Amino acid sequence: MTTRKGSISVKTNDIFPIIKKWLYSEHDIFIRELVSNACDAITKRSTLARSQGHETPEAKVSISVDKTNRLITISDNGLGMTEAEVEKYIAQLAFSGAEEFVQKMKDLGNTNTKDEIIGKFGLGFYSSFMVAEKVEVESLSMSPGAVATKWTCLGDTDYEFSESTKSDVGTTIKLFVGPDGEEFLDYWKFRETLTHYCDFMPYPISLTNAEDAEMKDEQINETTPLWKKDAATLKDEDYKDFYKKMFPMDPEPLFWLQLNVDHPFTLQGVLFFPKINQNKPMQENGIKLYSKQVFVSDNVKNVVPDFLALLKGAIDSVDIPLNVSRSSLQGDPNIKKISNYIIKKVAESLKKLFNTDRERYEKAWEDIGLFVKYGCMQDEKFDEVMRKFVLFKNTDGKLVTLEEYQAALPEKVKEKLKDKYVYFEKNLSDESLRKQLQAEGIQVLETDQYIDPHFMQHAEMKGLGEQKYKFSAIDSEFENLLDSDVTSADDIKVKDFFKQVLVGDNKELEGRLDVDVKNLKNASSSAYFKVDEQMKRFQQMTKSMGQSAFSMPVKKTLVVNPGNVLVKNALKIWEKGEKKDLAEKIAHHVQDLASLSSEGLTSEEKEKFVTRSQSLVSELSQFIV
Ligand code: ADP
Ligand code: MG
Repeated sequence: MTTRKGSISVKTNDIFPIIKKWLYSEHDIFIRELVSNACDAITKRSTLARSQGHETPEAKVSISVDKTNRLITISDNGLGMTEAEVEKYIAQLAFSGAEEFVQKMKDLGNTNTKDEIIGKFGLGFYSSFMVAEKVEVESLSMSPGAVATKWTCLGDTDYEFSESTKSDVGTTIKLFVGPDGEEFLDYWKFRETLTHYCDFMPYPISLTNAEDAEMKDEQINETTPLWKKDAATLKDEDYKDFYKKMFPMDPEPLFWLQLNVDHPFTLQGVLFFPKINQNKPMQENGIKLYSKQVFVSDNVKNVVPDFLALLKGAIDSVDIPLNVSRSSLQGDPNIKKISNYIIKKVAESLKKLFNTDRERYEKAWEDIGLFVKYGCMQDEKFDEVMRKFVLFKNTDGKLVTLEEYQAALPEKVKEKLKDKYVYFEKNLSDESLRKQLQAEGIQVLETDQYIDPHFMQHAEMKGLGEQKYKFSAIDSEFENLLDSDVTSADDIKVKDFFKQVLVGDNKELEGRLDVDVKNLKNASSSAYFKVDEQMKRFQQMTKSMGQSAFSMPVKKTLVVNPGNVLVKNALKIWEKGEKKDLAEKIAHHVQDLASLSSEGLTSEEKEKFVTRSQSLVSELSQFIV
């Protein structure tokens, strides 16, 4: 038997310990590197064979894990290597690649960038030494008349060539696993890592458990992932099945879109809108990044904007630099192009869904509404397409666009409002005002206290083409919307009475509270609070930004309804002059009732309210007993 010794021409001594230390938590990448090399070799073989008019056998990568003998074997029927090629590509190139890698890492010093490059491509074949004490490469090249060869290396700079009995074209790599690779001798651990990286690699990968003769080989990957298929041939079920495969714990996705572009960059992928679990904090990292079907990363920051971080799925592109998460890539024009493409596609598919399947769009709105609004504020292009399709709930509980809201207003109201949108803050504004408007056929848009104040401000600032937006809260617009009955001399008396009782000559109160009168159609309502829109908006903003400690006092106007019995009687009692204190109590009560149905009572007001209620009711019961 002839053997030939050689030595590697690396200049850096002891690169193994250095690399091992750096990649301490990333030992598993050797699986990705060796399997992707195997796939590359198969592709090269079939490309060469095709150009020469030859047939190639069915592509196959076979892997076995043998715990007893501490051996992991990876075999492919790719193009193979001659002894000279092994020496050139493996012994010299791969090792000098490793040296280059070390140099790169050294240059980066202690920056964060380093952590992000680690674990990405770049170490290649050499990564096998992360887990193996000894590596053996046996190969038979596809070139005519080639002789099989065996290369053995203990991971230092010396290696040895010997004869091989390998009879079929391809390469077999044997890893004699050392203590650092212990965990991968466990079949299930190995399998889990293999599927993590190689789920969608383009050739069948079969895995054998040498420990368990009963167990059949299993193919662990899907060679043509959904994103490689023609969208025209795919059905809803295909997308749902694929989603289930990628995210087995998730409920069915709401809808999805497929990405496929060749120019000016290549990218394929599929993105799903997941059903949001309100009780679980949103997980990011739902989008997996692939490069030619090899898993690279689940960090797509910069490639996908923040507001789309809720999406799940896969993006496959060789044009995304492997260290995507680096902040320096934020300005990278290629990444920007890709990111814009994704934003555009998402907007288009939402628009299409709105136009073709309104019901489904509305159903999804509960989950995606927040992100669409956020997206409109974040991205101009997205805003341009999507603002028209932002939905709000109206008083009837129907979801409508802003355009639809206005179109449905009674003509009379349209004139009064002059392009304004009346909104109602859920849980905050006076419910009875809304009911009264509803009775007159006037709808109000329901808004939340979190994103909507920001969204409304954004829309007002930006407008949309010719379209201008102006939002107005129900409690500042209410008066304008109802037909105003002429105010009589008696009404003025009501106003004066309330003002005297509630404000009097308290200078401090005067700055916060005003009294007005208004004849409401609904006589059962005694009073409501009117708020200045600008002040209200300011308060909303500070509140939604979490600055609750700082809340500006807003000047409010109590609008009293002179047609209401309580109000009428209070004035009569007041004018009689015998029981002025009872009239005062009723006036305060009317004010508290208005507070109750808008912002509620402070604890001090609440206490007074309770005491007063008791005294009022007992006074009243005297008449009956
Ligand atoms: P890279 O894949 O980036 O070129 P690697 O270190 O992974 O770097 O591999 C170095 C080279 O060794 C490859 O370019 C290829 O020429 C050769 N090689 C590695 N594995 C195989 C294999 N299974 N079959 C044929 N050639 C291989
Ligand atoms: Mg490689």
